[in-house]
Amino acid sequence: MAANVTNSETFRRWTVGAARITRVLELPPLNGDPADFIQTTKDEIVKRNDWLCPHFSDEEGNITLHFQAFIIEASGKRILVDPCIGNDKERDIPEFHKLNGPFLERLEAAGLRRESIDYVLCTHLHLDHCGWNTMLVDGAWVPTFPNARYIFAKAEYEHIRSDDHRDSIAVMGDSIRPIIDAGLAVFVDADHVIVDEVRLEPTPGHTPGHCAIVISSEGQEAIITGDLIHHPVQVAIPHIGDNFCWNQDMARSTRRTVLERVADRNSLLLGSHFSGPTGIYLKPEGDAWIVDEATFAEVAAQARTPA
Ligand SMILES: [Zn+2]
Repeated sequence: MAANVTNSETFRRWTVGAARITRVLELPPLNGDPADFIQTTKDEIVKRNDWLCPHFSDEEGNITLHFQAFIIEASGKRILVDPCIGNDKERDIPEFHKLNGPFLERLEAAGLRRESIDYVLCTHLHLDHCGWNTMLVDGAWVPTFPNARYIFAKAEYEHIRSDDHRDSIAVMGDSIRPIIDAGLAVFVDADHVIVDEVRLEPTPGHTPGHCAIVISSEGQEAIITGDLIHHPVQVAIPHIGDNFCWNQDMARSTRRTVLERVADRNSLLLGSHFSGPTGIYLKPEGDAWIVDEATFAEVAAQARTPA
């Protein structure tokens, strides 16, 4: 069963049963050599450009990636998943360093004021998935979502807390420690149920405590991937790993398991870094999958119907 989808310039929205899911972009789509992100080549992309281009790649085989958050409205609660990179953060990656972007304004334009968020979830604690946990006010990092509980998977928190990588230390300092100090952090198991229709699902590999977010309502299902997959070419070749991965073998096995279940149930796969429609459906092809045409039919139907 396909979800309904609506679109505007800055946000995109699906209904899954009684739940509503909104995507808000933080950065303009990033286009680059696939090898900078995932373990494949432009040639492998071009071979599949009959279904990847133009939504997910260009004609030369560069891939397109999004940096975006999802807001789930279900069971009377608003749940923000993966608050992107954040403004003002000092980061080694030039594209992420000291951003001054309109992410919060875009949330408001989608009718989602930051004060109205009930829960914040991070699929994992890499710097592009938890940056807006906090914002800079008078020189101090304060919770961006003051009325929210911030849910952290215990295994993920333990990993980042003991990791001595520069990025982990920076993220702990400016995006996690201030949440704990404000008394808003809640540490949970990796299969935690947030509300009836929304739960975490352990998907280790990219990081030790990585979780996907599963939304199930009235017989429909959607899965927010986090970084268990980065780009739709990985549905066709699930063994393609990414360059930022903790355990490649575990990540491959997790990716295939999740894709099998998504295909079996015709679930909506909401890729945290997927560009274009962002939400895709799968159809079998050989021993893996490709993106089902239903995905693009939704986009085309939307283009004819102003939001
Ligand atoms: Zn990421």
